Amino acid sequence: MIRQYELVEKVKKYNPNADVALLNRAYVFSMRAHGNQTRASGEPYLTHPLEVADLLTELHLDEETIATALLHDTIEDTLATYEEIEQICGKDVADMVEGVTKLSKIEFDDKNEHQAENYRKLFLAMSSDIRVLLVKLADRLHNMRTIEFKKKEESKRRIARETMDIYIPLAHRIGLYKFKTELEDICFKTLYPEEYSKIVERTEFVMSQENLIGKVIAHLQQELQKRDIHADVTGRSKTPYSIWRKMINKNLTFDQLTDIVAYRIIVDDLGKCYEVLGMIHSLYNALPGRFKDYISNPKPNGYQSLHTSVIGPFGNKEEIQIRTEHMHEIAESGVAAHWLYKQKHSADKKELTTGNQYAWLRNIIDGLQDADSADEVLENTKMELFRDEVFVFTPNGDLISLPRGASGLDFAFGIHSEVGYKCKAIKVNSKFVPLRTELKNGNVVEIVTNNGVKPTKGWLSMVITTKAKNAINRYIKEQESEVEINDGKSMLEKALKEKEVKLTDKLIRPIAEKYKWDEVNEVYKALSQARLSTKAVMEFLFPEDIKQITEEETIEQLEAELSNRKAQTGTSKIGIDGIIDGLVVNIAKCCNPIPGERITGIITTGKGIAIHSRMCKNLSQYENDPERWLDVSWSNQRDDERVYRTKLRLLLINNKGVLSELTNTVFNADVNIVDFNVETQSVDYYGVNCEVELKDIEHFGYLMSKLRSLHSVAKIERIQG
Ligand code: MN
Repeated sequence: MIRQYELVEKVKKYNPNADVALLNRAYVFSMRAHGNQTRASGEPYLTHPLEVADLLTELHLDEETIATALLHDTIEDTLATYEEIEQICGKDVADMVEGVTKLSKIEFDDKNEHQAENYRKLFLAMSSDIRVLLVKLADRLHNMRTIEFKKKEESKRRIARETMDIYIPLAHRIGLYKFKTELEDICFKTLYPEEYSKIVERTEFVMSQENLIGKVIAHLQQELQKRDIHADVTGRSKTPYSIWRKMINKNLTFDQLTDIVAYRIIVDDLGKCYEVLGMIHSLYNALPGRFKDYISNPKPNGYQSLHTSVIGPFGNKEEIQIRTEHMHEIAESGVAAHWLYKQKHSADKKELTTGNQYAWLRNIIDGLQDADSADEVLENTKMELFRDEVFVFTPNGDLISLPRGASGLDFAFGIHSEVGYKCKAIKVNSKFVPLRTELKNGNVVEIVTNNGVKPTKGWLSMVITTKAKNAINRYIKEQESEVEINDGKSMLEKALKEKEVKLTDKLIRPIAEKYKWDEVNEVYKALSQARLSTKAVMEFLFPEDIKQITEEETIEQLEAELSNRKAQTGTSKIGIDGIIDGLVVNIAKCCNPIPGERITGIITTGKGIAIHSRMCKNLSQYENDPERWLDVSWSNQRDDERVYRTKLRLLLINNKGVLSELTNTVFNADVNIVDFNVETQSVDYYGVNCEVELKDIEHFGYLMSKLRSLHSVAKIERIQG
C-alpha cells in the first residue's frame, strides 16, 4: 500500500510547486472520517482513497484532484459533510467530492443495457468538472483491481457488466487507454473466467518459444541502426481481452492464434515514423488490408499512430505500431497526457496556475461528441457538454433523454400521449411540483394521472417538445370540432323547427354526399365554420320553398339589420393605458387600430388624443413634433364587451346569394357590420366596402380566415391609412 509521504513525493516530482499542505489536510481529514472502516479485503479503508490518488498521480494531475481522490468517499460513506470539506480544503475540492458522490449514486441496472449510451451521457453531463470523471474512473479501476474480495459471485458480475457498459466506453471516449485496457481485462476475467485462463495459457506458451520476441526486437534494432534511426523498440503480448475479441470477431480457434505479440517503435519525430514504416515495408511482406495511418487521420479521441502487419523476419505474423513520444503519451493517457505535454512545453506557466488549465481539457471532451478528427476536436473550444439534452429517471429507474428546458409535462407526453392527456400532477424526487417545472439531470420524475383531466390551450406554454405540442394541439382540435358539430346541429335544428322536421343524420346524409364528404358531421362543421349556409341546406332539403329574391332586396334586409345592431352598441371605456386625463381619446380613422396591434398616441390640435397604429403612414407627418407623441398601450383591463372598428374591402364573385352568404359569415363570426356599401358591380364581380366591429386582432384573424374560406371571396384586404 502506498503511504501518504510517497504520494506527496510523487506529486512533487511532476509539480514542484504543489500545495503539499492541502494534500496533507485532505489525508488527515479522510483518515479521521473513515476511522476504523475496513475494505472487503480486510485492509483499512484508507488504502482505497490512497490507491485512487496514486492512480491519478500517474496521469500527473494537480493537487486538487489528488485531494479529491483522498476524500472521494467521505461524504457518501462517513459522517463528513460538504461544509467541513469546504472549510478544510476549499470550495473547488468540496465541489469535486460532491460531484464524485453524485456519480456514485447513479445506479445502472444491467437489464437496461440498451440504455447504456444514455447513462454514459448522463455521467458526462453530471461531471461538471472533467477531473470529477477522472477521479471516478480511477475509483472504479481500484475497485475492479480488488473485486476478487467481493463475496457474492452475482455482485462481482454485476459490477463487471456495469464497468463494461459504462466506464470502459467513457475511458475510451477520453482516450484513457491505460485505464481502459486494464479494466477490460479484469472484466473479461470476471465474466468469462474459463476463456480468460485458456488465453493466458496459450499466450504464455507462444511467448516462451525460443525467445521469439527478443529475436524480433534485436533484428529490428539492427536494421534501424543501419539506417541511423534513433528508436525505442518494445514487444509485448497483447492483452487477453483484445486477443479474445479478435477470436470472436474473426471466428478463430486457439491454435489459429498467431499474432498475439505487438511491437512498438517509438521515434523522435513525425517524419521518422514514415521513414521507419518505409523500412519495414521494404524488408518484409505486408499483410494486405492491415495498414492504418492514424497520424494523418487521428481517432476522435486524439489517438495517433501508424499500424501495420507483416510476415516478420522469422516467418511469423507481426503487428507493428510506429509513433512519436508525444503520440505515445496521448495513446496511454489520452487528454490528461495532452495536458501534461502542454504543461511541459508551455512557455507561459501562468496559464497553468490560473485554475483554468482544465477548461481546454473539458472542451476536448465536449468536442469528442461529434467531431471527426482530432483537429476538429481541438478547435471546438466553445461547446458545452450536452447542452441540448437533459437526462431524467422514471420511478422504475428507466432513463429518459429530453431536450434541455423540457418540463414535467413534456416528460409525461414523452412516455405516452395518453399519459400526457391525463397528467394531473407531477412529482420530482418525491415532491409535488408544478407541471411546467423544468427538469434537471438525474431527477426522478413521477406522473400522477387522472381520467378527469382535460388538456387546455394553456398547456402549450408549458411544453417545449414537438411531441407534446402536437399531442396537445391534436386534442384541442378534436375538442373544437366537437363544439363545431354541436353548433352546426343547433343551427339546423332551429331552422328545421319552423318546418316541424326533426334533425337526423339520415336527413342530412344526401348533403354530405353532394359535397363528397365522408361524414355527416362534416356538414355540421361546415355550417359552424360558415363554409355552408343554413339557407343553402334548407333550399336543398325543401327546394319548393326557394323564392326568387333580388340582390336589392338582400341589401335592404341587410340595412334594416344594421340599424338594429347599431342601436345596441354600447359606449364603454376605450381601454387604453398611458393617456392624459382630461383629453378626449379617439381611435384614428385612417388606420383603425385594434387591440393586439402596436399603437401610438398623437396629441391633436383639438385637445384630444388620436390613437394610431404604429404602422400608420400618417404618423410620418408628426415626426418633427416629438412632444405630441404619447407612449400608449392597450389596457389589460379592457371591457370584454368593448368592440373596435376596422374597414375591409372585398372583391366578390357575382354568384347568386353571395351577399347574404357574406353577411351570414360575418355575423356567425360574432362580428357586427356597421357600414356596408357596394362600390362597383359588374357581371362577374362585386366590389364591396365594409366596416366591422370586433374585439381584437385575434378576432380579426378569425374573421379573415372565415371569409377567405368562402368560395365567392376573390380578394380581401384591410383598409388602413
Ligand atoms: Mn471509492
